[in-house]
Amino acid sequence: MQHIVNHIERFTSKPGAKLHLQWIPSHVGILANELADNCAKQACNLPTISEGTFIPSSELKPTWASTASSTNLEIHRLRQSTGGSWTASFQDTPCTSAWYLNKQLTRSEITRTNRLLLGHGNNRLFQYRMRGANCPHCRYCKDHNEVETIEHIITNCRQLRVAMMEALGGCTIREVMQGAGKPDNRLPHILECLEKEQVQF
Ligand SMILES: [Zn+2]
Repeated sequence: MQHIVNHIERFTSKPGAKLHLQWIPSHVGILANELADNCAKQACNLPTISEGTFIPSSELKPTWASTASSTNLEIHRLRQSTGGSWTASFQDTPCTSAWYLNKQLTRSEITRTNRLLLGHGNNRLFQYRMRGANCPHCRYCKDHNEVETIEHIITNCRQLRVAMMEALGGCTIREVMQGAGKPDNRLPHILECLEKEQVQF
């Protein structure tokens, strides 16, 4: 922990450095996180660290960066071909920079928009996974065949459909999600609509 704090202090003391801290919900059920967890568990069970796994500190950052970038792309492609990924449905390649930099937005607007873009928020499915709800079904349309995900809420919840169509203002969901942070993008209208409809996410 102290090591992380030292790093943050060193980083923020640089001129022009900007630090964005953001709380995100637990990563239960997130593919890349599950992979990282599995790797860490396997490594803990190794009796010793073999010579072959030694990486000098000078090579650590570039090695980590190239591995992370290729793994990220691989997972993104896997999700596009297997389905089940909300973000991959509108974003063809993984993001390389944050959409909210240099924008006049509140922390809440950034966090809530990120939840819509990532499909990862405090919805019924998340609460169910964290054992805080008895079922993952949508509280708004009350359809027991529909799991309450961000994707469901935005794209096909019967209860929210009319309000959502109005918030989209004739744009497609793909256009709106791809255009985060651009002028005239409808994501703020979607946030407003969800707030009006008292949707928790
Ligand atoms: Zn619903």
